[in-house]
Amino acid sequence: MWAILNAWLKHESELVEQAARNDAMNLAIAFEEHVHSVVRYADALIQDVREELVKDPDAFQTIAKTKLPRYETLVGQLALIDAEGWLVGSSLDSLAKKVDLSDREHFRVHRDNLGQDQLFVSKPILGRVSGIWSIQLTRPVINDGKFSGVVVLSIPVTFFTDFYKQINIGSHGLIALVGLDRVPRAAASSINLDARLDGMVVPGDRPYFDSTKPDKGFYRGPSAIDHLDRLTAYRRLKEAGLVVIVQLSPAEYLAASRERRQFLIFCAAAISILLLAFASFLYFATQRHLKNTAALKRAHDSLQKIISIDLLTGARSRRDFLETLESELGRSLRHDAPLSLVLLDIDFFKQVNDTYGHPIGDVVLKELSSLCSAVLRTHDVFGRLGGEEFGLILPHTDAEGAMLVAEKLRVAVENAVIPTDRGPVRITVSAGVASAIPAVDDSSRLIVRADDALYTAKQTGRNRVCFASSAGSSPQSDGAPAEIN
Ligand code: GH3
Ligand code: MG
Ligand code: MG
Repeated sequence: MWAILNAWLKHESELVEQAARNDAMNLAIAFEEHVHSVVRYADALIQDVREELVKDPDAFQTIAKTKLPRYETLVGQLALIDAEGWLVGSSLDSLAKKVDLSDREHFRVHRDNLGQDQLFVSKPILGRVSGIWSIQLTRPVINDGKFSGVVVLSIPVTFFTDFYKQINIGSHGLIALVGLDRVPRAAASSINLDARLDGMVVPGDRPYFDSTKPDKGFYRGPSAIDHLDRLTAYRRLKEAGLVVIVQLSPAEYLAASRERRQFLIFCAAAISILLLAFASFLYFATQRHLKNTAALKRAHDSLQKIISIDLLTGARSRRDFLETLESELGRSLRHDAPLSLVLLDIDFFKQVNDTYGHPIGDVVLKELSSLCSAVLRTHDVFGRLGGEEFGLILPHTDAEGAMLVAEKLRVAVENAVIPTDRGPVRITVSAGVASAIPAVDDSSRLIVRADDALYTAKQTGRNRVCFASSAGSSPQSDGAPAEIN
């Protein structure tokens, strides 16, 4: 989002900059055209007057009176200076006293460059007769190849500045007409420039003073007049020795896009903060969820452990034992592998409780459990089915193998002496063994057959192992169960 915004803002400021350059240059073209036509118009008048003077050197006042009404707005004064520099004619005054203008540049430039009939545009000067600031446009009067004076046409500086002031260049824009001699002729801006223009010389490093540079162009930098950073478009009028300058303030033309930029950055920042807050919320919610899930799993595991283990003896619980029998039987039938089930019951356990007390009975149950676990292989499953009755799942074990295991257990229990607080206790167990018969047995049927065999073991004297020889019939109905004792 930030990358797109950045690229978009960059593109927009380039467009705004380009639009400002176009505006400044278009204004400069208009002003150049204005200055150009003024100079051309004034020069035509000067040359017209000069031609008349050649015909009749004393007719200046008459000529001025007849020509001037047509140029009223443009011309401040039309004057004639003689070859010595004396003002000998003026459209403003009857010249009661003599005025010496031999020191004026616009006189000297023609006197000292004899033979060059060129239009000269002076710096703004305060008229000795008119009393107003004006720019002098002059041409020499040459009679028979001899310098005989200068025709002067004064244009008030306000003629340019009043025109410039009508143009909207913003509150910090600036329009100026500068001579190639680096002296400003006229300038206008909403700021007061008069004090700054007085005696001012524009630094020579400006590109428009460099004759090797094109006649039109741009530059960006602090203005010579008020040192404010501005974009400048300029156009050079070589033949009049002038440059038209239009300066626009970047602070102004970029203001709208800067405001928009700030607003967009603010929006993007707000969106970022919201996204960050949402991401943090998601992160913490996920963390909490994971924590809860882990805690739930731990609780589930410990619950599973509780319900799958008999708390007194540490053997598998009845529920877990039966589930395991179901799955182990299914697996053995699928793989065509043998599986046997042994049911064990302590003989006369009631008497143990009655003789030594219930707690001692518990100790005996625990010891029997440890004894069986020690004798069994790791993949055999040992569980407490209830009271003093235990079960044994023997995967991959056929009838013969199961009978051997059961017998081994019976003997181990018979020989064990269980130490208790009430002295050593000895017990015996009876066992019923059944081996799964494929396509006949399911888990309940297998249990029934093993239980029947156990019953037989009890009935036939206890402390013995009986085998349920076939499916669908109890050991009794099938005859005597196999007995190993
Ligand atoms: P049989 O040889 O026929 O199996 O006789 P028996 O006395 O072992 O069988 P009976 O069913 O008559 O008695 C089982 C006894 O087991 C009764 C009961 O108090 C005791 N018993 C069952 N569960 C526990 C137990 O968790 N702890 C203790 N101490 N005794 C228990
Ligand atoms: Mg018993
Ligand atoms: Mg019992």
